[in-house]
Amino acid sequence: MAYKVPFVNYPAHYRSMEAEIDAAIKEVLSQGDLILRRHVREFEEKMAALLGVEYCVGVHCCTDALHLSLRAAGIGPSDEVITVAHTFVATISAIVHSGATPVLVDVAEDFNMDPECLERAVTSRTRAVIPVDFNGRVCNMEKIMAVTERHGLTIIEDSAQALGGTFDGKKAGSFGLSGCFSFYPAKLLGAAGDAGLVSTNDLEFAETIRLLRDHGRKEKDELVFYGFNSRLDNLQAAILNVKLNYVPRWIARRREIAERYFAGLADVPGVLLPPRTGGRYFDVYQNFVLRVEDRNRLADHLREKGVEVIVSNPIPVHFQKGLNLSHFKLPNTERFANEVISIPNIPELTDDQIDYVIETVRNFYSTKAAGR
Ligand SMILES: *Cc1c(COP(=O)(O)O)cnc(C)c1O
Repeated sequence: MAYKVPFVNYPAHYRSMEAEIDAAIKEVLSQGDLILRRHVREFEEKMAALLGVEYCVGVHCCTDALHLSLRAAGIGPSDEVITVAHTFVATISAIVHSGATPVLVDVAEDFNMDPECLERAVTSRTRAVIPVDFNGRVCNMEKIMAVTERHGLTIIEDSAQALGGTFDGKKAGSFGLSGCFSFYPAKLLGAAGDAGLVSTNDLEFAETIRLLRDHGRKEKDELVFYGFNSRLDNLQAAILNVKLNYVPRWIARRREIAERYFAGLADVPGVLLPPRTGGRYFDVYQNFVLRVEDRNRLADHLREKGVEVIVSNPIPVHFQKGLNLSHFKLPNTERFANEVISIPNIPELTDDQIDYVIETVRNFYSTKAAGR
């Protein structure tokens, strides 16, 4: 079914840049520049400039960015890495694949890691922390870094959802040893498939990531260790170079849409709005997430009325039986799993479409209050 208000609309997104993207693809294919060529280097340089960091290394996806970052930081078996359960599972799988043990802590009302829970979870085996900049809001890095500095812990940021977001004017992915980004198609900056990137200010670390992503290959014939195949395809990089120019516009539009939602949904009983951007936070709204009463029925109602919505992690990650994480008790995470709903906020949407979403949410709760 074609939604009146789609959550993602890849064809419309493509059409808005069709000629430029086609030209980029044609250039790559006609020159045969497929693996680790000019477009990858160009994308890495542009991203470093955008983030205000020294080095960026393109990799296959953000899951790999996290995994390779942990390895390059020397983290492995017998180490503990603290992160949240209120995230996409990839944050946690990366820890498991590095050989380390994930330690999950709760999130605060802003959906990001609660620094007090972080402090309490530190043990003598803790080596690193992965704060996740969820929904496009950077974590309170001042509080998190106070803990990591006190205990000598490495920070690897999962900034997959926060490209362009800042805390105290500093960009997501520029606080820790590394920042990890995703260009999965649904992300704010999306490739035509999978793509990811590691940001860092540490030259040696950047070099290690470069080796890890390409079989440990140093010069043409020198192999320095067993690596992986986790390169960013040149074709994806070429597409990303085109799309990167639009990022400021897309962020501005997402923030405009957010303001429209804030105004339109401010007084709806049963609806809790996300944390407000401003002050120390510049949010990019990868997702606009409400916490609501009667979530599942609202989701059905919206879908029936033609509004595509997403409920992420309806089952908290630590409740997934196959993952062996059931020993964690995380009250906010568990509560939010029953309350959260992401409503459409892609830049392609018109104000009329946003108003229709607002009206449809309002109708659901007024009909409910009237007992109908
Ligand atoms: C999307 C996402 C990832 C994984 O990114 P991939 O590029 O798909 O591997 C990791 N963490 C968070 C928070 C994400 O949103």
